[in-house]
This record gives sequence, structure tokens and C-alpha cells, in this order.
Amino acid sequence: MPSLPRVTLQPGREKSIAQWHPWVFDGSIATVEGSPAAGDTVILHASDGTALASAAWSPESKIRARIWSFDPLQNIDAAFFHARVKTAVRARDGLLDRANNACRLIHGESDGLPGFVADRYQDVVVVQILAAGAERWREPVFDALAEATGCAAIYERSNVDVRTLEGMAPREGPVRGAMLPRVVMVEDGLRFVVDVAHGQKTGFYLDQRNNRRRVRALAGERDVLNCFCYTGGFTVAALAGGAKSVLSIDSSAEALSLGRENVAANDFDAARTEWRDADVFAELRKLRDAARSFDLIVLDPPKFAPTAQHAEKATRAYKDINLLALKLLRPSGLLATFSCSGGISADLFQKIVAGAALDARANAAIIERFTASADHPVALNFPQGDYLKGLLVRKIA
Ligand code: SAH
Repeated sequence: MPSLPRVTLQPGREKSIAQWHPWVFDGSIATVEGSPAAGDTVILHASDGTALASAAWSPESKIRARIWSFDPLQNIDAAFFHARVKTAVRARDGLLDRANNACRLIHGESDGLPGFVADRYQDVVVVQILAAGAERWREPVFDALAEATGCAAIYERSNVDVRTLEGMAPREGPVRGAMLPRVVMVEDGLRFVVDVAHGQKTGFYLDQRNNRRRVRALAGERDVLNCFCYTGGFTVAALAGGAKSVLSIDSSAEALSLGRENVAANDFDAARTEWRDADVFAELRKLRDAARSFDLIVLDPPKFAPTAQHAEKATRAYKDINLLALKLLRPSGLLATFSCSGGISADLFQKIVAGAALDARANAAIIERFTASADHPVALNFPQGDYLKGLLVRKIA
């Protein structure tokens, strides 16, 4: 077998690999022997020549190498991916039951599969491929997913901006089996239509499953405001929990239309719901000016700060919506507020919400903390995977 390209790190840069961090940045690399192409497997070496790991080469990206194995002797071949995929899929076995037929199957680095995301909706698997190494091994991973899940249909949604950082064009469409673009999934016994071809991300925000369950438990007899509602995940959960009314806001007309379908699919009374196609920042001001108030408010905005560089602008945006929401909340009301920004830590997020409460002159307390559900693990060697944080805040007065 021809020897693999050899990549030697700058002195001292082997430390992060000793801590099993899966990324190597361009600035850490001293020399490259051989001429690895995008996605090729390379062997990483410390400056003293010690072989450290096998990794996928990403010549266009700042993250120049993503580690497949911290054993430099590990063969990186189809069998390796079959084993990793099988382990990831089996780890979710306990999450799928009669009431739940959707979950994340592969969560990138935290499942030892950098650059891969896979979500299962009923009998369809939707895959995203985000890095050159993942692109190289796509076919064995599709085969392994089909084998481990028994799902005949696999759909690709690699139409995401991060691919351009890797010099890769978007790709989407069925990669195994023929399929209908819409699937009906079940979460905690509730039915949701997922548009796997046109929906956001892979079609549904599975990471919020546990948090929707909490909102459902808290929604009884409450007037609920669901901001950034997408296809009504929290709306349907609140209705299931006996909410008196739910006002849902999103700027995507397609998402709202599916939201209405999801209310109907669960036989809830549409008269308890109102939908607004609007910008949340502007709409919260309108609700304030109209002196509206609510008992439970959900704020689940998009990623305002993908990285720490965007943190300042994002901080202002988070503060703005949290301040307005706290004003709209009745005494004893609950605010379920989230950030899915990798660039905003849980600590910073809590400070932002505290600042918002102060400016809103709201006396409020954290009564619970939220994270992503168990099918979105955070590998201890990959703290960047800990992106979703949330607080349940009670307004005292
Ligand atoms: N809570 C949802 C997921 C929300 S994702 C769930 O549980 O499924 C974030 C949503 O915010 C997306 O649907 C997007 O269309 C919407 N969005 C982004 N910016 C917005 C804005 N300024 N005003 C209103 N909606 C916005």
C-alpha cells in the first residue's frame, strides 16, 4: 500500500491532539509531504516525528484537517465508516419508540464522524455533508446508514453555506431509494409534516425535543407566544399541553403554512391559534404598543452568532428580544429563551438575559436550564458541540 501523505505540525501544536480535539487549523501545520487532495487521508505527526492521528485533508478550509482516528495505524476505509455509523445509530436505539420515530443519528464530531449530520424522520434519513473528508466517504456512509436503520430512502441536503469554506458546491436530492419530499414524523405522540426537500436544515429542529416536552408540560391554561416558530414545533406542543391560545410568529411563509398543517394533523382547534408572517423584532414592538400580554413566551431565534466574532452584534439582538419578551410577560409568567449560537456561551447568554431583565425592570429568576436532546451528544473532547442553551425564567413581578 502506498504510504499516506505526512503532515507535520508546528512545535507545541500536538497538545490539542493529545487532548483528542478533532480539528487542526492551517496555522498549526509546518510541512506537508506528498500532495494530498481534498478529502484524502493524511497522517498527522508531531514536530518530533511521532505519528499522532489519521485525518481528512481539507486544503481550502481554515480547519485544514479533521481527525478520523487518534490511532495513526487505523485503516480509514469503508469498514471504518460502517463501524462508526453502526455505533452512532445503535446509540439512539432507546430514543425511538411508538411515540417517537424521529431523531438525529449522526452528530458530526461528537459521533466520531466530522462533517456528517444525519437525521431520521420515520423511514427516511436526511444527510448533510459539510467537509471534504466526509464528501470523500459519502457512499460508504450512505450504505452504512441504510444497513443500520433499514431505511430504504436517504435524502441529501448538503445545500449549506459552510460547504463553500471547503470549496465544495451544494448538493441535494435522493441518494438512495426514491422518495416523497414530505414525511410525517411523530414526536412524543404528536404528528409533524417534515418537508425534507425544502425545509430548513434537514427539515425539523430535533434538538429541541426535550424542551418542547417541557413547554407542553407548562402550557396548560396559558396564553402562549411562540417567536421564531418555524413549522410550529412549540406551538403544537403547547396546544397538546392545553394552552388557551398560541400566537406564533416567523418570517418564513412556507414554515407558517406547514405550522397550520401541523395543528390540523393533530386535530387541535385552529381557533386557539394565530399565525403572523413577520419579523419578530418588529412584531414584539407592535405587541408591546398594543398592550398585549402572555403567560408563556418561547424565544427560539436562529443562530445570531455562528462564531465568537459575531458575539457583539448577536448580544444586542438577544438582549433586544429578551427585553421585549419580559415586558410582554404577565406576573408569574414563564419565558423559555434559547440561543443556538456557538459563539455565545451559556454563561454569556445568562448575562444577556439578566441585562434584559434589568432594562425591562422585571424581577425574574431562572428556574430551569435547557440543552439539546440526548441524540445531539457533546463529546467531552469537543466542547464546540455544545451550541444549544436555554433558560426557563419566571417573572416574579
Ligand atoms: N422553534 C423552532 C425552530 C426555530 S428556527 C422549532 O422548534 O421547530 C428559527 C426560525 O426563525 C426559522 O423558522 C426562521 O424562519 C425564523 N426567523 C429568522 N429570523 C427571523 C426574524 N427576524 N423574524 C421572524 N422569524 C425569523
